[in-house]
Amino acid sequence: MRDILNVLKRKKIQFFFLFYILLLVPMLCPLAENFTFIDKVAVFLVCGLLFTAIWTLSLFVSSKLERIIYSIMLAISIIPGSIYLAYLLFANVMLEQNSVTSLFETNTEESKEFVAHYLSIWVTAGVLIYAAIPIIMVCTMRSFKPLKIKEHKTLFILGIITIVAIVGINRVSRSVYFINFYKTFISYKIRTSGEVRNIRERQDEPYKVEINHLDSIPQVFVIVIGESLNKHHMSLYGYPRETNPLLSRYGDTLIVYQDVVAPHVHTIPVIRSLLSMSELGHSNYFSKKPSMYELFNRAGYDTYLISNQGFSEDLGSSFDILYSLAKTKYNLSTYKQHDDIVLPVLDKILQNDNKKNKLIIIHLIGNHMAYEFRYPKEYIVFNHKKDGLVPDAPYRDEKAKKMIDRYDNSVLFNDSIINNVILSLKELHNQDAVMVYLSDHGEELYDYRDFAGHAYEKVSPTMSEVPFIVWMSSSYSKFRRDLVFDKNRPYSSEDFIYSISDLAGFNYVDYDDSRSLFSSNFISRERYVGEKTYEEIKKKFYK
Ligand SMILES: [Zn+2]
Repeated sequence: MRDILNVLKRKKIQFFFLFYILLLVPMLCPLAENFTFIDKVAVFLVCGLLFTAIWTLSLFVSSKLERIIYSIMLAISIIPGSIYLAYLLFANVMLEQNSVTSLFETNTEESKEFVAHYLSIWVTAGVLIYAAIPIIMVCTMRSFKPLKIKEHKTLFILGIITIVAIVGINRVSRSVYFINFYKTFISYKIRTSGEVRNIRERQDEPYKVEINHLDSIPQVFVIVIGESLNKHHMSLYGYPRETNPLLSRYGDTLIVYQDVVAPHVHTIPVIRSLLSMSELGHSNYFSKKPSMYELFNRAGYDTYLISNQGFSEDLGSSFDILYSLAKTKYNLSTYKQHDDIVLPVLDKILQNDNKKNKLIIIHLIGNHMAYEFRYPKEYIVFNHKKDGLVPDAPYRDEKAKKMIDRYDNSVLFNDSIINNVILSLKELHNQDAVMVYLSDHGEELYDYRDFAGHAYEKVSPTMSEVPFIVWMSSSYSKFRRDLVFDKNRPYSSEDFIYSISDLAGFNYVDYDDSRSLFSSNFISRERYVGEKTYEEIKKKFYK
């Protein structure tokens, strides 16, 4: 016993080092609004146990080896540690696996958003200090005489078993922030490379897509995927500011769906869901079953992608593989222009070969933060001081109201983009045309608290609800009298692929008409946003 006490006396700095690396994040985890009491207790217990085990084993190694091990621990924990602490301190949330995954995706809004939004001189200084403290500790650690393993065998074995169990059992290791971070990274890499391989391989296998409703004239489907559009900021949905002056003119010819919810509140998981048959509980359908471009390619369509959001043929983000299946792709995001950049490209495609059926997906940058960069100067229109249309609330200060003004300007600009897409389709002759606009997810704008943006850790109704609008040419609506357009159907865009298949009149072995918004056989079902039901999210915010 005395020899243990002697070692402990010389290892004070080592003790504080381990405490800093392993227990600082758990100590701050009570700040996390998205964690239940049990989650917080689990984090604390598991990290505490890991701390005890490593500390125990450290009594048996030489000072030199200990310094090497601690330097490695420092190197692997400092980046995840900074990220977790920043989320805890600035957003009061504990990072969840979905958000960890999005950090590894490139070329997308998600990964850069957090950094761009919060990066300041203070944050940089904070991270530097956070990293410097343990470096100093490692350099000043005193040497000591380690215990002999054969004299304390049980202690040694217990320490080893505890560490192996914590690292090895996924449910347990989830509670240790940096192990969770790297495990998520590894499983993300394995999953995405498997998906890419499977999707490529399946293109060579037979899969029959029949067209049940084949018109004598070609059909053009345009899907416009918006970004972060809060439907409650659209006058089409009753917002008092006139943010949809152009679309409002269409009256009944525009079908404005009232109750559509997104399957997630981040772009990447939503696009993965919209364009594939993957669903909650069956994520393997992502690569096992055909995705949207594949269906249309197999049905003989010309397929196009016009993207004003990051997209790379190198498959930097996990939905790129779906986009890469479009026969013709235009990546406009590199020009860093407003969304009107997509319009001439759309017109060029529409004028091209008017004998072919076409599927055109347009991915807008839409209403993404920072809102003031989403529209040209002519769209600086709204001013809460003049129109008094941004109501007072305890969590809505002057800065928040200004941000709402800017957001509404971006909604107004988006109105003109959708209108222009419809105008271009109206000019087509002897072709059926349909446009569906939907936002990937919504956006919270000081609706319930001092917060604007979208983050699963803070998921709320206005982040989950999306605008969903359908326009079709008169020739198409005459041709497809079998479809049902009931704007009050409760729907999740998770099933979007079945609805588009229905519009195109497709039939294939995996087709399920009860999931089509437009089918007479439609069945409404429980809607999930991530792993939470929409009803439970609503209940939390509208008591
Ligand atoms: Zn998004």
